[in-house]
Amino acid sequence: MEAVAELPFEIGMIYEGERIRGPDMYVELGGPKVKYKAELTQSREASEIEDGLVSVIGPDLSEMDEGGRYNFGILMEVAGEKIEKDLEAVLERRIHEFCNYVEGFMHLNQRYDIWCRVGKKAYGKGFTSLKFLGKALVKLFKAELPIIEKIQFTFITDESEVVEFHSRSIEIYKARDARARELKDEDVDEFYGCVLCQSFAPTHVCTVTPTRIALCGAITWFDARAASRVDPKGPNFPIPKGDLLDEVRGEYSGINDVTKEKSLGEVERVYLHSIFEHPHTSCGCFESIAFYIPEVDGIGIVPRDFQGEAVNGLAFSAMATQAGGGKQSHGFLGMAIEYMRSPKFLQADGGWERIVWLPSQTKDAVLDSIPEEMRDKVLTENDVNNISDLKDKLIEVEHPVVNRWEEEPEEAEGERDLEAPVMELPGEMVGLPAGSGVRIILENARIHADRVILKKEGK
Ligand code: SF4
Ligand code: ZN
Repeated sequence: MEAVAELPFEIGMIYEGERIRGPDMYVELGGPKVKYKAELTQSREASEIEDGLVSVIGPDLSEMDEGGRYNFGILMEVAGEKIEKDLEAVLERRIHEFCNYVEGFMHLNQRYDIWCRVGKKAYGKGFTSLKFLGKALVKLFKAELPIIEKIQFTFITDESEVVEFHSRSIEIYKARDARARELKDEDVDEFYGCVLCQSFAPTHVCTVTPTRIALCGAITWFDARAASRVDPKGPNFPIPKGDLLDEVRGEYSGINDVTKEKSLGEVERVYLHSIFEHPHTSCGCFESIAFYIPEVDGIGIVPRDFQGEAVNGLAFSAMATQAGGGKQSHGFLGMAIEYMRSPKFLQADGGWERIVWLPSQTKDAVLDSIPEEMRDKVLTENDVNNISDLKDKLIEVEHPVVNRWEEEPEEAEGERDLEAPVMELPGEMVGLPAGSGVRIILENARIHADRVILKKEGK
């Protein structure tokens, strides 16, 4: 923790976990209630940057209404001899971390989805300009990443400027993701890891491969590689592949070893392409959640920005508690939207043939990556909103998941070994009041259309 003479707040890691709740916020910048928000890092020639410059385009904090919500853009421009284009995304991801070092400022999420708040108390103590935030970020970035020789920040709150900045940023994110899409896991010798989120989720380790972008959606394999090269002591590091233990699930001995070490023994096995048994851990900044729907033996997906409840009656936030925190949650997986475009997307679970529900906006965004024969079969909130209608609808559209139900009698008689060693469900799923905190734990259970079949002893 450090008091900087000219700044009206302290800066330090101890503020990282600080959350600013609604009643305590002075203003909200970005967030789910406004349409346009983005953060972007761009590398420039040294001559294009005035080192330490912080600009605000549009109303500054002191010109905003208390309790107001504003469209918001953060542009960070950097230069340095060792700064290459591939580093932009990882430097951009650090904005989240460093903003949260600032007392009285909260930053959540990434890219087009940022959600920031300035606290009332901080405003009262003199945090009346975004320039203070910029100055703090300049200081933190230069102290932590000496490869940055020059840096400047522009905060955008003017409405039409944010709209323009947002669309420009989206194009740049798309180009980064498209580049990574050209590579396959087999083409590379190493994968990369990221532990930036361990400050929030201490056992969380991200593995980034060409076919599996990080769950925050902000770090591709190229980004993580560039970062681990220039900042070997930083949060990104190479992961030797080791042996390929299971091609379909995406299990590698190298990933298991590194994850075990970096999670302090907590996580021993990771499947890159499954939500069951040993799914990848999830911290808190995933763009979407894939969730098992036991009633139809299918998988639904809910993105962070979906307002309302998913088809299982749970909102994103309710399932985020289940999926997140750095643990492995059988049947829940935090993932990036871009991962749905991966040729290996949940391939161990059946890929798109197992996806039964996805909000229309996300479906439209990834439509090109959905196999043509599945496009009308993956249902959205416009087709069905609850579990009881879901089953009928799936039969109606002849969703391939329906074929799985026919295997049921065989299993009901206990002739086949049952899957799902341990499964945890939030109490809401069985009708308990929301927020009851009760978890239903099923052992050796496999859940079918509308009943639970428990494996009997000795079978
Ligand atoms: Fe790094 Fe993963 Fe966190 Fe993204 S979600 S910042 S890749 S640890
Ligand atoms: Zn995270």
